[in-house]
Amino acid sequence: MIKKRILEQVEQLKASQPYLNGLVTLIDPSEQLNELLDKDTTLPLYGQGVILKDNVSTKDILTSASSRILENYVPVFDATIVKKLKDAGAIILGKSTMDELAMGGTGLTPASGPTHNPYDIDRISGGSSSGSAAIAGANLVDFAIGSDTGDSVRKPAAYCGVVGVKPTYGRISRYGVIPYASSLDHVGYFTQDVMQSAKLLEILAGRDDLDVTSANESVDNYSSIEGNLKNKRIGILMNVMDTIDDSLKAPFNDLIEKMKHDGVEIVEKRMNQELLDTLFATYYVIANCEATANHASLDGIRYGVRHEGKTLSETMKLSREHGFGSLVKRRFVVGAYGLEDDNQQEVFRKAQRVRRLIVEDLKETLKDIDALMVLAAPDVAPKFEDVKKRNYSIVADNHMVLCNFSGYPSMTVPFAFVDGMPIGVNLTSLAFEEKLMFDIALGIEKLVEFNELRKERLPQWLMK
Ligand code: GLN
Repeated sequence: MIKKRILEQVEQLKASQPYLNGLVTLIDPSEQLNELLDKDTTLPLYGQGVILKDNVSTKDILTSASSRILENYVPVFDATIVKKLKDAGAIILGKSTMDELAMGGTGLTPASGPTHNPYDIDRISGGSSSGSAAIAGANLVDFAIGSDTGDSVRKPAAYCGVVGVKPTYGRISRYGVIPYASSLDHVGYFTQDVMQSAKLLEILAGRDDLDVTSANESVDNYSSIEGNLKNKRIGILMNVMDTIDDSLKAPFNDLIEKMKHDGVEIVEKRMNQELLDTLFATYYVIANCEATANHASLDGIRYGVRHEGKTLSETMKLSREHGFGSLVKRRFVVGAYGLEDDNQQEVFRKAQRVRRLIVEDLKETLKDIDALMVLAAPDVAPKFEDVKKRNYSIVADNHMVLCNFSGYPSMTVPFAFVDGMPIGVNLTSLAFEEKLMFDIALGIEKLVEFNELRKERLPQWLMK
C-alpha cells in the first residue's frame, strides 16, 4: 500500500519534470522502502514522500545548491533535518531545484534551468525554494523542505498555492543546510494543509547541539489547534495593503469580511514608513555581506569544481569565475564592498543598526494583536517574459524580510485564485508563538476551503 503510493509519487515526479523542471536529483526509494519494513508503522511520517531543497546536505547524494561550483559535491553526512525526517519514517524522493545558493526570488537561476509554475508553466514558481514550491504546489509529494532567508518559502508558496512555513529563528536546526546569510537563514517547509504544517513542526523543531543558534525553548503541541478565529485580534499592515493592486485587494477584503463574520477583530496597523522604505536596501546589504563571507570557502580548492590555473590564486579566480552565475557574482561584489574596512561602519554596521530599529517597530506593532496579516505577494506569479519588468524593491515585495530580521514565525496560507492563479495571505506572530499562528491559519483555511478550490484548478498536464 505504502510502497505503491510512493512509487506513484516517483512516477508523478518523473512525469512532472518536462513541465516543472523542479528536480535536480530523483532518488530511487527502494532502499528506504526496505528499511521502512523494519520501522514502527506508527511513526508520525511513516511512508510519507518528501523532497528536499538542494541546499540540504544528504549523505552520498549530490547536494549542489543548484550552483555549477557545487555540481560535484556529495556530502559525507546528513543534515539534522534529514535525520529527523528519516527517523520519523519519511521517504526522501528527491532534491529540488533552487535559485543558485538560495539567492534570488524567481526560480530562474538554478544551474539546471528555470523552474515552472504548476498552474501555468509560462509563469515562474518564485524562489528561491522554487522546485519544492512547484512540486508541493502540484501536490506530487506529501510535503517539501525549503529554506527562507528573505521570503524563499513564503513567496513561492503564494505563487504555487501551497502552505509555506518559516518558524522562529533557531526553531529548526540548520546543521547541514548550506548557509546563505547566517543571521537570516531559516529552514522552512511546504505542506498540503495547515494541520500537516503544525504536525511537521512538532517533528522538526528542537534544540540541536550541532547548531549553536538552535533554540532551547520546549516544542509545543502545535497540532492541538482547532482553527478557532473567534476573538482573535488580527492586524492588517496598511503600509503594504495601500500599494496592492485592486484585483488582489478585492479577494483579500472578502476574506477579511468572512473573518470578521467569524468573530475576528480586525485592526489597521501602520509601521514607520521611513523604516519600511529601507527594507530592501537593509536586507540586501546584510544578506550579501553575510553571503560573501560564508561563500569565501567555495573556491575550487576546499570545495567545489576546480578550474586549474597556474597559481593558487589563479585557480581560485578561475573556479569562481566559472562556478557562479551572474546574479551571485553581482551580490558578492555588493557584499565585498560592504565588508571592506573602509566601508564596514557606513554600510554593513549601519544596516545592522537599521535592522534593529525595524525589529523594534515590528515588535511594537505586534504588541496588542495575535498576528499581523497581509497579502503574501503584490501579484500572482509573473510570466517569464514579465519578470525583468518588475520592480523588486517595493515594500509590498519585501515585507516578508521583517520576519527574517526579527526571527518571528511567519507563514503563507493560500486562499483564493485570481485569473486562474493562486494567491496567499502571510501571517506573522511573535517569537515562538507558532501555535497561535497555526491556529489562525487553520481558521482561515477552514473558511476558504482552498483544497476544494485547488481540486477544480489543478493543471491539465497533471491529469494525464
Ligand atoms: N529573494 C531574496 C534574496 O534573493 C530571498 C532569498 C531567500 O529567502 N533565500 O535574497
